[in-house]
Amino acid sequence: MNRPASRFLLAAATIAGLLLIVASFVVSDTIARNRALAEAGQRGNVSAELLASALESEHERFRLATLVLAQDADARAVLAGENGQRLDAFNRKLEALSRDMGAAAIYLLDTQGLTLASSNWQRPETFVGQNYGFRSYFREAMRNGHHEQFALGTVSRRPGLYIARQLQSGGRPIGVIVSKVEFDNLEAEWRKAGVTVFATNSNGVILITSNRDWRFKTVQPLSQAIQSKMLRDLDYGTNPLEVLPLYQQGEIGRPDAADITSKKYAEAVKQLTNDWQLHVLTATQDSIRAAVFSSRVSVLASLLALFALGLAMVYLRRSAAFKAERNLAIQQREMSERLVQLNKLAALGQIAAGVGHEINQPLAAISAYTSNAVTFLDRGQTHEARDNLNRVIGLATRIGTITAELLGFARKATGAMTAVSLSNVIEGALLLLRDRIATLNATIQLPKDDALVQAEAVRLEQVLVNLMANALDAGQQGVEINLSIALANGFVELTLADNGPGLSAETRASLFQPFSTTKRDGLGLGLVISRDIMADFGGELIAANPKQGAAFIMRLRPAQ
Ligand code: ADP
Repeated sequence: MNRPASRFLLAAATIAGLLLIVASFVVSDTIARNRALAEAGQRGNVSAELLASALESEHERFRLATLVLAQDADARAVLAGENGQRLDAFNRKLEALSRDMGAAAIYLLDTQGLTLASSNWQRPETFVGQNYGFRSYFREAMRNGHHEQFALGTVSRRPGLYIARQLQSGGRPIGVIVSKVEFDNLEAEWRKAGVTVFATNSNGVILITSNRDWRFKTVQPLSQAIQSKMLRDLDYGTNPLEVLPLYQQGEIGRPDAADITSKKYAEAVKQLTNDWQLHVLTATQDSIRAAVFSSRVSVLASLLALFALGLAMVYLRRSAAFKAERNLAIQQREMSERLVQLNKLAALGQIAAGVGHEINQPLAAISAYTSNAVTFLDRGQTHEARDNLNRVIGLATRIGTITAELLGFARKATGAMTAVSLSNVIEGALLLLRDRIATLNATIQLPKDDALVQAEAVRLEQVLVNLMANALDAGQQGVEINLSIALANGFVELTLADNGPGLSAETRASLFQPFSTTKRDGLGLGLVISRDIMADFGGELIAANPKQGAAFIMRLRPAQ
């Protein structure tokens, strides 16, 4: 693959990878967000249930205490005008009850609203003697039997729930007993628990709250008429009842609403047995952020694992392909080595006949010289005998040179490149082909100079034997073979030219193709193998195009 194409593929793969990550994030973020909100909603509902039941049981305790006090005989006696010890005993009873129950105050009013007895009867701020006839809880209780009102104390200015119940005698009201409950402790507990919670009345005005600044704010806008009534009921002065900014700015939503993901808080609401509602706010954004973060981490981890798996698969496939390629290369190399050997054997077949002749001749001469030597020795002509034996030594050495060359040629190549002298290689090839040269009466013109080239001697000799054998095959009796060495373009060129018929256009076209031969017993491998060997040396074999005959150029790298 060319470079721009692979770069393009890399860029495309990177973009696809990034898109995959973004798409995975979009999907996983949505899932994580919804799950976080569902969990926040659930948490809110559970908190609302628990906090509501705590508030209600607190409320119920005081409601019951007030109900019991409405039947109290001492209370009735006090209302009937008894004072002295009876009044003291009742005051003490209220004091003890208020302390034990944790009420802010418990007190008894007559039909005019005048306080006759009170739990704080001995304190400087005592209600005894105060008239509460103007308070709504008194008037409503006188009218309807009982009433509950959340309001500020007229003296203390502390907010609390007033639970008022009418006392009757003979079906007629004789007074009202009132418990005032303050929720400071409950609010402190809420704050300590870290929950954002508040209770509203039926109009949505915040009465009890974990955040004091929110008291008397509203969760919805109120009409002017309702506002005025509420202000009166709460005894809250003239300050307007403003909507809590969180609600005003729409930062609170129900957990199942579609737009809840953009809200700051999810709201759980629980209806209480009076007409109040308990609201629990659960912060959404932190839970969402944490859920999105952890889901992104797991998405990234999964993608990384997937990527690593892909890489491992690519690696495994590559290494399998690499192995197959290597096996093929090994097979090809083995095959070409076998072909080289085959070509050599074919050459050896031709050479052997000539070499046999080459060896037979000196052997016959050796036999003649040794028998002469024996005769000379018998005659005591030691000088002549020595002369004959010296000739034998010379002939034996010549035979040794020929067989050594033959063995060297037949040997497999080592593959090691060295500096090789061209004249040595030429000499070896001529020795092997000497008999054929002699038979054809061929003339060999040797190069004037020598050159050192980078090659392996045995294989270079094989190339030269192939080329010379082809020239001898092509030439007639008295063929001329011309060997010359030249330097060209930093290469050493050994040219072998003959004066034979040369190469026809057809032969030239398939010259270096395996098994293309014009000879009856030819293999058509010589030139193919010779060219491969030359390429192995970092050189080449070129068929030149001379005017007459054929010429091949062996181009070789000079030895360093
Ligand atoms: P082979 O010698 O077995 O035929 P080669 O590959 O050595 O195989 O040679 C292929 C063919 O090239 C020969 O058959 C011959 O036709 C031609 N050829 C090679 N050298 C010469 C040459 N010096 N003169 C003419 N033809 C040649």
